[in-house]
Amino acid sequence: MTSLIEPNDGAVVNGPAVDAPCASDSNASDTGTRTAIDIETAVATELETAPVEASGFAHFGFAPEILEALATVGYREPSPIQQAAIPELLLGRDLVGQAQTGTGKTAAFALPMLARLDPDQRTPQVLVLAPTRELALQVADAFNSYAARLSRVRTVAVYGGADFRDQIHQLKRGAQIVVGTPGRVMDHMRQGTLDLSGLRALVLDEADEMLRMGFIDDVEWVLEQLPEQRQVVLFSATMPAEIRRISQQYLSSPAEITIRTKAADAGRIRQRYLTVPAPHKLTALERVLESEGGEGVIIFARTKAITLTVAESLEAHGYDVAVLNGDVPQAQRERTIERLKSGQVDILVATDVAARGLDVDRIGLVINYDIPFDGEAYVHRIGRTGRAGRSGEAILFLTPRERRFLGGLERAAGKPIEPMEVPDNATINQHRLDRLRQRLTGALQQSHCSDAERALLSEILQRVAQEQGCAPEQLALAALELSLAGKPLLLQGNDDFSTVRAHGPGRDRDRDRDGQGRERGRQLRRGGREERPQGPPEDDMERFRVELGWRDRVKPGNLVGAIANETGLDGRSIGRIQIFDTHSTVDLPKGMPEEVFTSLRELRVLSKPLQISRLRNTDR
Ligand code: AMP
Repeated sequence: MTSLIEPNDGAVVNGPAVDAPCASDSNASDTGTRTAIDIETAVATELETAPVEASGFAHFGFAPEILEALATVGYREPSPIQQAAIPELLLGRDLVGQAQTGTGKTAAFALPMLARLDPDQRTPQVLVLAPTRELALQVADAFNSYAARLSRVRTVAVYGGADFRDQIHQLKRGAQIVVGTPGRVMDHMRQGTLDLSGLRALVLDEADEMLRMGFIDDVEWVLEQLPEQRQVVLFSATMPAEIRRISQQYLSSPAEITIRTKAADAGRIRQRYLTVPAPHKLTALERVLESEGGEGVIIFARTKAITLTVAESLEAHGYDVAVLNGDVPQAQRERTIERLKSGQVDILVATDVAARGLDVDRIGLVINYDIPFDGEAYVHRIGRTGRAGRSGEAILFLTPRERRFLGGLERAAGKPIEPMEVPDNATINQHRLDRLRQRLTGALQQSHCSDAERALLSEILQRVAQEQGCAPEQLALAALELSLAGKPLLLQGNDDFSTVRAHGPGRDRDRDRDGQGRERGRQLRRGGREERPQGPPEDDMERFRVELGWRDRVKPGNLVGAIANETGLDGRSIGRIQIFDTHSTVDLPKGMPEEVFTSLRELRVLSKPLQISRLRNTDR
């Protein structure tokens, strides 16, 4: 079967195509559909506020209640992935979709799943597994909005870190759709509080992310427990071998759809990197902002904690900053994006997850304060600038040890990333003078005062000139000085940043994942039974003890996945993990808020309590 896809958003479409990357070595049967579509990264995110006709969806044969709900959320036309996936899923076929967030993939699976529901069956019919609680909530919200007019349909989200009993209660009330993170879903299944005997469909959302977070064993366990007759849908941004294996093992003759996302015209984005030891990153950031910042800026940080540290430091230096991380509720997130769009705030500090699909035209500069996890994340991050035909700047911060990842990022970006220096005093001073000149010119051309206010200001000028007997130029100078609000106009001296660096700590204290890997490898070769943790944690990390060890068959991936999910930390920012016979140690970034620590204490991994505790210095 082939499908011809009519793009309605200016997307470039190759349909039908047989060159989908995941199709060549798959075992799709003759009836398998393979579709490859090239689109810009963020499609279909412009929502209309007023209800419109969801006419583009009518030909799928959805019930009027679903079409009305789509009109309410402002979807007029299906996005390319929806166009390709919905007919296949309505037929009950398995499907492998290679697509990222921002393509409309949630509706691509949620709408046909809703259309095929039996509202009279109160036990779960659709289970969606998602890597993080944020995504689980997002997917559950999407189901709720599409099912807003289907009165007997209920969706429940189950994820770690939330009250277990409350979830049991929700499940008991009956729900046709359950969205959850793998660990918590497994716990409910084991306890008999999630009955999947009537399940019709399983969706694995962001499967590669679940693999990366160490959940893949859990996902397979869930797959093994499902009824034989069921539809399985797998969405993944990338197709690592392990994900391909899962799709070959558990899916039957799946339709295959690939949405190839292109960077938002990387040609228009000037990409540079600077090398800076970890302890100097904040100073370097302030200097870069002083000399390069202008319009909107997005700063990408690895963890929630780092977004806060960076924002606080910038605020202390007089910048207006907004933060987007997994802790920011959806409504506030939308307000923040509006403030950024309207120019009420110029600087946004965000984690990758929070900034997915962010589409703001006035972003002139993207700063990768922390190196992105991989090439794909890099391309996605820098694609937040250079939008709507504008040019953009992207600056990547690398610690000396991270320099070795540069080649990989350049390959992903498809062009070299040029080196730059941390701006020195002379550059910053020149920029300050230029900006002052621009502000003065701007103030001359466009006043923010009312006529009455201007008349009052003019009166003050005349009065002071008379009293002091001074020339207009002297007055203007005094007014300009006032605008500096007591801050020095220029940085003094010529001690540029390279001097600071030269006198800074000689050792790069940045963490070294490969180093950790080698350490773990050595440990494993020694039988993995070291009873003393090797070496202290890095300076910006704190060491924790958890009561799970070899004896419990815990693997680093289990701990990374569970902790990342609970804390919202990116897996990469979880430091060294050392596994011993009866316990393990985990290094986590310093400054964990108390409530996060409390929720970690209640966390269960492999159905056992983690019992996390802080290690004192003497314990190390
Ligand atoms: P997703 O890739 O599922 O995370 O969706 C990205 C964004 O696009 C979400 O804000 C959706 O609400 C929105 N969206 C999905 N499909 C459509 C559509 N057909 N028209 C307009 N917006 C859409």
